[in-house]
Amino acid sequence: MQIFQGKSVFGGIAIGRISIFKIEKNQVVRKKIQNVSDECKRFYSAKEEASKQLGNLYDKAVKEVGEDNAAIFEVHQMMLEDEDYLESVENIINSQKVNAEFAVASTSDNFQKMFMDMKDDYMRERAADIKDISERIINILLGNKMDKSINSESSIILAEDLAPSQTVQMDKDKVLSFVTTLGSTNSHTAILARTMGIPALVSTSIPLDNLLDGAMAVVDGFEGKIYVNPTDAVLKDKRRALEEENRKKELLLQLKGQETKTIDGKKIMLYANIGNLKDLALVLENDAEGIGLFRSEFIYLEKNNFPTEEEQFKIYKTIAETMAEKSVIIRTLDIGADKKCDYFDLDAEENPALGYRAIRICLTRPDIFKTQLRALFRASVYGNIKIMYPMITSVSEINQIKHIVNIVKEDLESQEISFKIPEQGIMIETPAAALISDKLAKEVDFFSIGTNDLSQYTLAIDRQNPKLEEFYDPYHEGILKLMETVIQNAHSEGIWAGICGELGADLAMTEKFIKMGIDELSVSPGSVLAIRDKIRKIKLV
Ligand code: PEP
Ligand code: MG
Repeated sequence: MQIFQGKSVFGGIAIGRISIFKIEKNQVVRKKIQNVSDECKRFYSAKEEASKQLGNLYDKAVKEVGEDNAAIFEVHQMMLEDEDYLESVENIINSQKVNAEFAVASTSDNFQKMFMDMKDDYMRERAADIKDISERIINILLGNKMDKSINSESSIILAEDLAPSQTVQMDKDKVLSFVTTLGSTNSHTAILARTMGIPALVSTSIPLDNLLDGAMAVVDGFEGKIYVNPTDAVLKDKRRALEEENRKKELLLQLKGQETKTIDGKKIMLYANIGNLKDLALVLENDAEGIGLFRSEFIYLEKNNFPTEEEQFKIYKTIAETMAEKSVIIRTLDIGADKKCDYFDLDAEENPALGYRAIRICLTRPDIFKTQLRALFRASVYGNIKIMYPMITSVSEINQIKHIVNIVKEDLESQEISFKIPEQGIMIETPAAALISDKLAKEVDFFSIGTNDLSQYTLAIDRQNPKLEEFYDPYHEGILKLMETVIQNAHSEGIWAGICGELGADLAMTEKFIKMGIDELSVSPGSVLAIRDKIRKIKLV
């Protein structure tokens, strides 16, 4: 048995086999080959396998995100049959007598360039699709495993780190736990694990050794440890702990349907954070009273191209209808920083967290923003949607948003399309916003404090950098002072203030936040009942 220490981001016990998630960087080397017809056969069989994988992805996506969103995988399957593309690969193999990997990579470069040079936006965006299908074929030719978690057994995913764009492809029903060697407690892998309510470790001292693939392991999210090839005694002990855990969860289920209020009657709105439609089941299962943060950028990350107004409208409408009259707070696109999306064509930046992201993209590329606003306003007719804008730093940004909102409103009116302008609030996640929250409170309907970014910017500690964890103090007086200011300023203007960052789920802070006057907490669905339990035991006076 080997034991490795990591940092726990969510408690709980997982017992299962390790599955190493490693997407190798494709280093395509040009090699001379003798037998061109064998090489062409190699290429065609890789192409068939790619088509099969895409078929599986399509089926999975239809179930998870609906037919419209799954259609991209069908498009990719069709592109794999494109005669010009196939002919180009064959020609390169035959004329240059080179390996199939190199022929596919060259074809990919040429075709991407050709599409990028086209005038039509739609055609230009096809370049990303060419890149995607070519990488899939190259991975198969190189023997790299992609989509390996699909159709495999439930397992403990061991990875260096997981980008949001990688996790969206995973079959999350089959993930027992995440263990990463990098990553910090506020990284998106951590947030995902909390949303799913599964134990997870980051910054773990475990080697990413292929020999560990398939090994039996226990992840103990309370101790922050992973036991590889556990002894019978450890297994027995952890199985007992798992049963105990499940019993506690059962007890918490008794709180379903109960009010979230302190002993002396102060009511708190207890909402859930979600990233996609599939998370809705967790929201209902855990009896959240609404959705306090829908990270809409995940709709963009799940696709290879900009989601259309219609695609977005259907998703927002489904959420609004599923939640009936309960609040559904949808945050507009927060792409950038660690949430990268190829087709946005964003330049590489020295400091992405301080860079071109979120509302800054929306205000400078208003067409993207308007499409999302149109979809949101139209879907608002079907339920209790509220909109929230991320990364605000000034009143001027709010004025610019209002200007665009007005244009969208007039467009919809003139087109006689039914819509509703919902309540609109902002995330308070920059120190600047917290410090001028007295002015901002006059302009919006609510505040939601994003402690993940507010902490990062207040402490000047990159939330993605595991090396800085020892300097990171989530309870830093500076952060708490800013939060207190925000809550007071909100109340002075008669609006509510909540927390949707990870700190909102910290049971050690619940009483303090309520004493500060917080009105709403939005947490991962798996934390809802534990927080309700905590609040119901608090006495304020
Ligand atoms: C936050 O910054 O606290 C937040 C909720 O947003 P995200 O984690 O998506 O940046
Ligand atoms: Mg944020």
